[in-house]
Amino acid sequence: MNGVMRKLGKKSISVTDISAQYWCEKKMELEYIYGSSQTKAEKVGKKIHELLENKINIQVDLEPKSYADFVYKTLYTNYIGISELLKSKKTREVNIFGRIGGISLRGKIDQLHMKDGAIIILENKTKSKTEPPYAAQLLTHRVQVILYRKMLEDLRSEKYTIDMFRDDYWIKNLKLTKEFEQQISILNIPSNIREIDGISKNFFNIIKSLPKISNTLYIRYSNQFTEKLIKMYKLNYTDKEYDELMSYSLKYWNGLREALTVPENEQWKCKFCSFFGNKCKVWYTSNNVKI
Ligand code: SF4
Repeated sequence: MNGVMRKLGKKSISVTDISAQYWCEKKMELEYIYGSSQTKAEKVGKKIHELLENKINIQVDLEPKSYADFVYKTLYTNYIGISELLKSKKTREVNIFGRIGGISLRGKIDQLHMKDGAIIILENKTKSKTEPPYAAQLLTHRVQVILYRKMLEDLRSEKYTIDMFRDDYWIKNLKLTKEFEQQISILNIPSNIREIDGISKNFFNIIKSLPKISNTLYIRYSNQFTEKLIKMYKLNYTDKEYDELMSYSLKYWNGLREALTVPENEQWKCKFCSFFGNKCKVWYTSNNVKI
């Protein structure tokens, strides 16, 4: 584990960590050290996310009691989700795994659907206002979908393999709890996928069977109260952009630079930050300005 990961108490990075870096890297780091507080709008957004998930996905009635149970449920839910995508051409909330610069990376794709023989990635975002997002907001979400596209393709093309997954999530010696095994037998899950190894194999096999992943990525913004569409963005994935974005991110994660604060022309972001003036005084003191 490198120094930054140790400092933040992390064993893997999430896609949302990287997208948060593109808002303010320092804020992302401080949230790990001191904890974060969700704004009211973020809480409403999360609730809407859960409602959407329930609308489309099959609910898996399993209650994990340990890390091993949790890993099993994640893989089983994913397996059911991808099966649903192949059957009804639509699914939501698929967990994905990968690596960036040798560091384990995880994320959750909001929505997948199939169109003209290709898999389309779509991210749903909610806003309390009716205006489209600021460019800075859109950038963080752009980073998110670009990473999802790369990770899903790496799983499909076996650049990220089941053996890498076994190492990253220490699944070799994991054992399900007795209580969880009983829940699995009540659900009549086939015997070959009642253990972590069996369900891992099935998940990695079904991912491999997916058709090509489209380079067109979508981000949909809707109003969190009315659910009305604000704006749909259509982006084009390129490896070049992915490489540029990750080269910037990894300099921080590999400890080659300290966490950066926002530049002067983005001081307005500090107004929305709970660390402004206490844990982070970079713009508070140097300019002696209260924003
Ligand atoms: S106060 Fe501003 S620069 Fe400091 S962590 Fe918050 S957003 Fe970043």
